[in-house]
Amino acid sequence: MSTTLCDPLETVKSPPDAGCVLCGHSATLGQAKVVCKVPSNVRMFQHEKFTVWRCENCRSLHSHENVDLDRYYKHYPFKQHEMNFATRCAYNNRLRLLRKRDVCSSDKVLDYGCGEGLFVDFLHEKGFQNVAGYDAFAEEYSNEAVLEDQFDVIVSYDVIEHVEEPRSFFDSLVNLLAPGGLLVVGTPNAEQIDLSRWEEFSMELHQPYHRHILSEQVLMQLGRDAGLKAEYVYHRFYFDTLYPSVNTRFMEEYVRATGSVIDVVVEEPQPGVVFRSPRLLFHAFFGYFAPPRGNMMAFFRK
Ligand SMILES: [Zn+2]
Repeated sequence: MSTTLCDPLETVKSPPDAGCVLCGHSATLGQAKVVCKVPSNVRMFQHEKFTVWRCENCRSLHSHENVDLDRYYKHYPFKQHEMNFATRCAYNNRLRLLRKRDVCSSDKVLDYGCGEGLFVDFLHEKGFQNVAGYDAFAEEYSNEAVLEDQFDVIVSYDVIEHVEEPRSFFDSLVNLLAPGGLLVVGTPNAEQIDLSRWEEFSMELHQPYHRHILSEQVLMQLGRDAGLKAEYVYHRFYFDTLYPSVNTRFMEEYVRATGSVIDVVVEEPQPGVVFRSPRLLFHAFFGYFAPPRGNMMAFFRK
């Protein structure tokens, strides 16, 4: 079978191929059947394109170029993320899913990759007394002393796809988990991302920040390899709620309608764009019932 190159005008250069870091298969970019050039969905870098390829063995996606990530994170729009109505709805959804797995307010919880600690603060507000956050890139939460402890519950939302070594990252989470503890990993699902329609998946692909996007089968395998039991997989993004405009379908369509950059999610809302578009208005109210499938949240028990 021949390689699918989604943008024929672009050529793929320089493959210092190392194989798949997730399944260990010797598949390389040079042999990949599905390769695509994907532009960044951050405004400042929108003119730059990155090579994404799929491992034929485990179906995961890899971002190929070695980039200076510091340069990209320096202008990362989500540094401006603040608590607002939509975030609160989404966090309520995260908490609902945790409670379904018997998490209670006396549990010792770690949010690994907590950013500026919004979810940590949210859990404190909800009566959780024993919540810690860790994020190497946030000054307030970068104290590694936190990582000498063990936790009943570890949550890590939108993190594993950002790291260069997802396998060792996963194992380090498992090491922090107390016996019987719950590990929650929320991340895009490579199996559901169709690279030939990359425009529809620019949020999940999020180049060049998402280094390796796991397939569900590889995430399950990581769990098994670490001796964990997979209890449940939620096949939605936690942003999916029934509140008007707080659903993933609406968010993705809104981003596309406003120029396909994710910056708009943390900027002043543009209600005019929504009211002029019957499609956006429809999804503001009913988007929950047409969820994009490009995300997963897995719950593992140690
Ligand atoms: Zn693989």
